[in-house]
Amino acid sequence: MTKLTCPHCSNQVLEHFFYLEDLTRSRSVLALSAGVLRLCGEYTDGDEFNARAICLLCQTEFPIPADLNLDFSE
Ligand SMILES: [Zn+2]
Repeated sequence: MTKLTCPHCSNQVLEHFFYLEDLTRSRSVLALSAGVLRLCGEYTDGDEFNARAICLLCQTEFPIPADLNLDFSE
């Protein structure tokens, strides 16, 4: 079974990792009037990408192993 292992310091203690991702959020553009760009108050979607882990012991960021599935249920 795949373990989350820091490639720099070999840490495998889950409490010493954070999961990182960059998000792109989008809003609809509604109008431009008198120098004000009015945008929809709600996001239209959000895409996650560049998912990675950071080891809190040595600050190394590395990709999540491809054979690990992600579960965001909690
Ligand atoms: Zn590390």
